[in-house]
Amino acid sequence: MLIQRGGLKVVAGLGISGVSAVNFLHEKGYRVAVTDSRAIPPGHDQIPAAVQTSFGQFDLELLLQAEEIIISPGLDPKLPEIQAAIAKGIPVVSEIQILRRATDKPIIAITGSNAKSTVTTLMGLMAADAGINVAVGGNLGRPALDLTKDDPELYILELSSFQLETTSHLNADVAVVLNISEDHLDRHGDMFAYHTAKHRIFQGVKKVVHNRDDSLTRPLVPDATPMQSFGLNAPDMNQYGVLRDTDGTIWLARGRERLLKSSDMYMQGLHNIANALACLALGEAIGLPLAGMLETLKTFKGLEHRCEFVKELNGVRYYNDSKGTNIGATLAALDGLGAAIEAQGGRVAIILGGQGKGQDFSALCNALSKYAKVAVLIGEDRAVIEQAIQGTTCLMHANSLKEAVALCEQHTQAHDVVLLSPACASFDMFTGYPERGRQFVALVNELN
Ligand code: ADP
Repeated sequence: MLIQRGGLKVVAGLGISGVSAVNFLHEKGYRVAVTDSRAIPPGHDQIPAAVQTSFGQFDLELLLQAEEIIISPGLDPKLPEIQAAIAKGIPVVSEIQILRRATDKPIIAITGSNAKSTVTTLMGLMAADAGINVAVGGNLGRPALDLTKDDPELYILELSSFQLETTSHLNADVAVVLNISEDHLDRHGDMFAYHTAKHRIFQGVKKVVHNRDDSLTRPLVPDATPMQSFGLNAPDMNQYGVLRDTDGTIWLARGRERLLKSSDMYMQGLHNIANALACLALGEAIGLPLAGMLETLKTFKGLEHRCEFVKELNGVRYYNDSKGTNIGATLAALDGLGAAIEAQGGRVAIILGGQGKGQDFSALCNALSKYAKVAVLIGEDRAVIEQAIQGTTCLMHANSLKEAVALCEQHTQAHDVVLLSPACASFDMFTGYPERGRQFVALVNELN
């Protein structure tokens, strides 16, 4: 039998990254097959006819014929069929592993529980503004293997813990774990496993960026590996951080050098200052000129649904943080915006609730006591949330987002902020966080 190129590559799980892996491997001349538990998986009509398909269940026989299995990030490697293949010594890898094998171009690798998309997008703009032919994607936007079509000089990849779990020796030019808070424990089992998956990003890394405010982001790498940090405190020499003037002005700084006032950025909240600093450190690691990066920071408006400024009405500012789907993100938004308006006596009216995913909402108590004047609870798990945050601030219930927005308007005055940052998934009331955010923006725009 004539074998084209090596043995059989079996893609497990179709969907966006599966389709891209199938097409990439096929174009490179490999023999490719794909299996999916769904009878008609998404993207089934976007793969070449020459590719063998087996849908409706994971085809164990096919998987066991593989030279290598490329697993989609949505699939848990603990699935019995995948475990059976691993037991037979068949390697199971992510599409990120295939990308690393396919290119020797530099990679900036970004992960974290929150802020990945913001930092990846901003980093991409900084590199593009510096004139670099850059491709940006991975867990965000375009799947990683599609990026090879651009033949870029630099890859900037947002990576999830699911992708990292099956990626070895990424050998990134620079890598960062932006922050670590509880998420996806349903898949990883516990924080240790989640942390371990995230830190695989550092295997073979040339330079490291870490977050001084979160010790879990600091990897164990050889002493010789250059490390640079960012954080919201005063930076040590050559590090990135924040310097504060006595009048309250906040500066993004490198060592003692004041670089940019936080008020010169559109992005709001202390957490976004941390994100900007992370980008400066990553950019420095690959030699981007500082002056250009600061210009990009001044023009970046931030991403939709992430502490997105909607409008100001009667001195009250409205923010859409619908992507705040876990406690870590909501804490960042509440602390970030709350601290910024505290000096003028402003406080936050926050809309919380939806599907709680089993999180412990008492972690919000301190920030709510400190910054919130009212918390309006919506959605399926509002009773659970109410119990956890009892006594922190004035708690109200609303049966719809419209009612929640109206309650927030009634209970706020000049210098206050209204913040939609639910700390929950949205599927009980919406098709997803984008729809929740869009409805919020529409409701706020109707206010006058
Ligand atoms: P990800 O891609 O990791 O989900 P996003 O940039 O989409 O990250 O932001 C997700 C949520 O996290 C948003 O609610 C956003 O406001 C919040 N967030 C952004 N930056 C940070 C940060 N540095 N720490 C914690 N939460 C953050």
